[in-house]
Amino acid sequence: MNSRIFYTKPSITEKEVAYATDAARNGWGDHCYEYIYRFEEAFCRHLGVKYAIATSSATGALHMGLAALGIGREDEVIMADTNWIASAAPIVHLGASPVFIDILSDSWCIDPALIEAAITPRTKAILAVHLYGNLCKMDQLMAIGRKYGIPVIEDAAEALGSVYHGKCAGSMATFGAFSFHGTKTITTGEGGIFVTNDADLYQRVLTLSNHGRARGSSKQFWAEMIGFKYKMSNIQAAIGCAQVERIDELTRRKREIFAYYKDRLSSLPGLSMNPEPENTINGAWMPTVVCSPETGITRERLQAAFAAEEIDARVFFWPLSSLPFFQPVSTNTCAYDIPGRAINLPSFHDISDNDLDRVVKVLSSLWHKG
Ligand SMILES: *Cc1c(COP(=O)(O)O)cnc(C)c1O
Repeated sequence: MNSRIFYTKPSITEKEVAYATDAARNGWGDHCYEYIYRFEEAFCRHLGVKYAIATSSATGALHMGLAALGIGREDEVIMADTNWIASAAPIVHLGASPVFIDILSDSWCIDPALIEAAITPRTKAILAVHLYGNLCKMDQLMAIGRKYGIPVIEDAAEALGSVYHGKCAGSMATFGAFSFHGTKTITTGEGGIFVTNDADLYQRVLTLSNHGRARGSSKQFWAEMIGFKYKMSNIQAAIGCAQVERIDELTRRKREIFAYYKDRLSSLPGLSMNPEPENTINGAWMPTVVCSPETGITRERLQAAFAAEEIDARVFFWPLSSLPFFQPVSTNTCAYDIPGRAINLPSFHDISDNDLDRVVKVLSSLWHKG
């Protein structure tokens, strides 16, 4: 009897347990920020950025970063329609509106050719989300940002280990955000991080992140502005420190799983997977297959076939503009069309070759049924 295959779960070793235990036992009083600072420094070093602020989620990191850029009522932020809701929610919370444009058919990330037509006097940012580890065309996005004086922001929650022209995803734009939710490449249970090379922006977010109190201020309980409370705890950061020490191993394993699938699936006619264009590395957070319309294979058939074999397979993100609280943008044809014939495959670090083969078999059998 085959056991259930989960689509994700974290890789936790004795190192994470030891650090978390140490934080629980000793990380109080004078030591209550030690793992947090250590985690922030290690993450900066990994990414090649100057500043980082650990947060309770990527959503929180995005919310504070957008607020620190002065984005508010009546403003607009351009982003791809295909996305997790967490990228759009902070925009709405600030009283601004996400403007949804279509994705590219091969990377499922924002189509740069559609951005300029969407820019209005209210446009205050372009949000680049590196979907499933696939990279946005950053050179083009940054050039548009420069031309119009609009900041580009990277939601790199799904792109740890992805590298664009030698630069880590999340390190290229005005600021970046990562998630350490339990499903992501590294985890702190829940958690996130804000990263930037801009010293002023860093200071503003640092103050916002501490209920509007400047770090190092001698005046106790003095808030200079209404801020946020999106902090990571020292215990979460302890787990994060262990995960960052293992980051190469963890991203390597993600890529290995992706390559395993790709080797065995790419011969199926009409099947495509996450791309890896020249001069980039795909961190392969979420191996995804898209079936061409000619195959006749739908999301529903894929879901049924995996469910029958006790395998968790996630649906491709719905277009955000199709959700009940937004206005549909049906001209976003790729964003509306692709989810109906796509699926995410299980890819947790500890998955066995035997389980990977079970996944491959389910897909192959759909092709052989015709
Ligand atoms: C997971 C995810 C988030 C949200 O991360 P949280 O830490 O849960 O807030 C944001 N954006 C993208 C693209 C994600 O995949």
